[in-house]
Amino acid sequence: MIENIKTQVCIIGAGPSGLMASIFAARAGASTIVMETNTSLGRKLLLTGGKRCNLTHQIESAHLIHLYDKMGKFLSCCIYEYSPQYIRNFFAQIGLNTTVEEDGCVFPATYKAEDVKNVLIREVQRLKVKFFYDKPVREIVKVAGGFLIKTDKQQFLAEKIIIATGGISWPQTGSTGDGYRFAKNLGHSIVEPRASLVPLVTSEKWTKELAGTSISNVSISANLNRKRIVTHGAIVFTNNGLGGPAAQDMSRYMTDFLPAEEKPLGIALDLVPYLQQEEMEEQIIRFTNENPKKKLENALADFVPKRIASIICSFAGCDDDVPMGQLKKEIRQKIVRLIKALPLSVLRTRPIEEATVTRGGVNLAEINPKTMESKICPGLFFAGEVIDADGPCGGYNLQICWSTGALAGSCAAKK
Ligand SMILES: Cc1cc2nc3c(=O)[nH]c(=O)nc-3n(C[C@H](O)[C@H](O)[C@H](O)COP(=O)(O)OP(=O)(O)OC[C@H]3O[C@@H](n4cnc5c(N)ncnc54)[C@H](O)[C@@H]3O)c2cc1C
Repeated sequence: MIENIKTQVCIIGAGPSGLMASIFAARAGASTIVMETNTSLGRKLLLTGGKRCNLTHQIESAHLIHLYDKMGKFLSCCIYEYSPQYIRNFFAQIGLNTTVEEDGCVFPATYKAEDVKNVLIREVQRLKVKFFYDKPVREIVKVAGGFLIKTDKQQFLAEKIIIATGGISWPQTGSTGDGYRFAKNLGHSIVEPRASLVPLVTSEKWTKELAGTSISNVSISANLNRKRIVTHGAIVFTNNGLGGPAAQDMSRYMTDFLPAEEKPLGIALDLVPYLQQEEMEEQIIRFTNENPKKKLENALADFVPKRIASIICSFAGCDDDVPMGQLKKEIRQKIVRLIKALPLSVLRTRPIEEATVTRGGVNLAEINPKTMESKICPGLFFAGEVIDADGPCGGYNLQICWSTGALAGSCAAKK
């Protein structure tokens, strides 16, 4: 016989958003349970930031909201209430000090994602939140006074539920898109899930020759729907295109157009964004005047890694060992133009399974931004990546999870 377990708040998913929701629901006094497919919690959390967990970004809420583009308006309620500074204080209170890097990225002071997980575990244990592991939820049914949550062997009755099942990327961590199915069955529409923060696949084959070569400070620009988009940061060439934070941030915009576009989408890499074209050319002329016998590769070494310089020289129609005194003006100018705007044609992103986050999800128009409660199905709440909200690289996606989780948890706990 199937037993029914009763609770006030049931959270589906023990990732960052579900854990945060459970803490805030339990702190508000609600009996709280969490259902999790995996045999342990926070499997994706452990992988974040190269296992160091870039848990948020040191930034004013007003600026942060702009980085979420059109989703910023929806997120503003929870971001103002549970800002990056609030989240840092929250973690300090539960025993995890954080550190801010030069670029504003916030990490645990120990640089261990595991420590983030451990303090969250300690807090949920202190609050006596009950976890049910190895319990994939199969179905959620709206019943009088709440919801019936069905697993293979047990049924749970909850007054309120919070869907915190994540997106559909990195499915091996447990996020297989179940939340979309649950939301749809309860009356919601889903904005098509797309890969975001993922490497780009280009039609140029030469990137393969540079696979593994990285540059730490690059700007990538593209014209998408007549809007100029520019992203900044490190890139790394791959066997079939381009990865690294700047390319991944660009994927966030391109994914809305790829691969539906019939033609590849053009991007341009500025490999020395800290110099104007004229300044760069002046530096090369000065180098030439001072070192007419030195090779072109020596002149370019100050700007780009050798392997890239050599490919750029071949595009410009010369060898990289030509003495500077013999370099023709047109070739020099061509090289400078290529370094300032190296063109690539993007065919598609890498598959969604490899994406750091899923763009798309439960339609924000159907969720109350002040509570995270469904406007369609009272008592149903959402938190984290399952909703149609995502951010760039730099801790902005976990910030969405913490803020929406805290808001959903505290509001779901209210009678
Ligand atoms: C490699 C990698 C690195 C990243 N690094 C960063 C970073 O440094 N900073 C940053 O801000 N973001 C980072 N992200 C993104 C961030 O990890 C996610 O946005 C975040 O984990 C989403 O949290 P979530 O709780 O919404 O979903 P998830 O973390 O995906 O958790 C969802 C949970 O729900 C469970 N679940 C799903 N379906 C069911 C079901 N039917 N029944 C029961 N349980 C279910 C899953 O097993 C899972 O445990 C990274 C992502 C990846 C893949």
